[in-house]
Amino acid sequence: MEQEYYFDNGATTRTDPQVAAVITDMLVNCYGNPSSLHRKGLEAQLRMDTARRQLAALMGCEAKNLTFTSGATEANNLAIFGAVYARRHGGKKIITTAFEHSSVLAPIQQLEREGYQVVRISPDRQGNISAQSVIDAVDEDTVLVSCMMVNNELGSILPIEQIARGTRRKNPNTFLHCDAVQALGKLPFKASRLGIDAMAVSGHKIHGPKGIGALYLREGARILPRTFGGEQEKRLRPGTENAAYIVGFGEASRLMQQNGKRYMQQITQCNQRLRQLLDGKESIVFHAPENALPTILNFSVLGIRSEIMLHFLEQKGICVSSGSACAKGAKSHVLSALGLTGQEIDSALRVGFSHENTLEQVEILANAILEGQKVIKR
Ligand code: PMP
Repeated sequence: MEQEYYFDNGATTRTDPQVAAVITDMLVNCYGNPSSLHRKGLEAQLRMDTARRQLAALMGCEAKNLTFTSGATEANNLAIFGAVYARRHGGKKIITTAFEHSSVLAPIQQLEREGYQVVRISPDRQGNISAQSVIDAVDEDTVLVSCMMVNNELGSILPIEQIARGTRRKNPNTFLHCDAVQALGKLPFKASRLGIDAMAVSGHKIHGPKGIGALYLREGARILPRTFGGEQEKRLRPGTENAAYIVGFGEASRLMQQNGKRYMQQITQCNQRLRQLLDGKESIVFHAPENALPTILNFSVLGIRSEIMLHFLEQKGICVSSGSACAKGAKSHVLSALGLTGQEIDSALRVGFSHENTLEQVEILANAILEGQKVIKR
């Protein structure tokens, strides 16, 4: 088999074989409907309960405050529409950032079409957003503040706790939502201590399966459901649970909890090595802020369009991306929000590390980029 060098872990991660084994066992042996009253149902329910506790431990909250969904896209939609529609008289202003993931941007855009006023806070040139810039926009008409914890193209870390504290001080009724997909297991936090109302996470960014996510809701934080049906997930997300993937998400959480520190050390080393190998090289400019999470490194190889470089690297078995996978090649709104030039945006590459990457792989990646730069220019 051709060698594979996977550096697109911001888009998704390889499912850990241990997680895959647990999922197969669920599908083949523990296939009962968790709502059934017989032993097969109870068995599935108990394993789901364990998974909920495993994810809760990783997120720093109580298991009872978690609702499983089909992914973070659904969790973000549920939180945003659910919170705003539950507060019809709670104000008409929504505050978010200009570089949220499309699963936050798009529902908020929809609310804008429905008459809400939206304020989108832009990052500074380095890719950072200060707590004060968000807090300054909060007023008595603010129904929702939605800010991500880590940006998926830059790795920028947002000061969620300070944002929550400042927002509460100005308007205690504002609902606070946080998309923590890129932070889960990689940045230490306790969801229940941040002062937020809701938080979305996803399984496939932590070596769990795709198509499973969860929404944390603070005790007493009220939102309306988006789907109606059975009693599952306290009626907030009805429908027969994807028990196999929930249990897989639980196992991935357990592995992260157990090995996260070691994983991050490996990721940090890989990031530093790539920076070292590309730093000072002609026409290469880094976009990530200094204090970014090392899981992502974003830079431009000026003069070479991202797709051309992607294709060159792909022939060598190397996978990186030009931006968010969900944008499918569209011009990055994240890099536009930084105020980068068209040329910088058109030639940007996003490298996403995981603990499965090695320093040897990083050297192969760096050499391939530098070789591509020469070959393509010719
Ligand atoms: N938010 C962020 C920051 C993400 O990176 C992603 C995944 N691309 C999502 C939300 C959506 O998650 P999912 O794929 O589970 O719907």
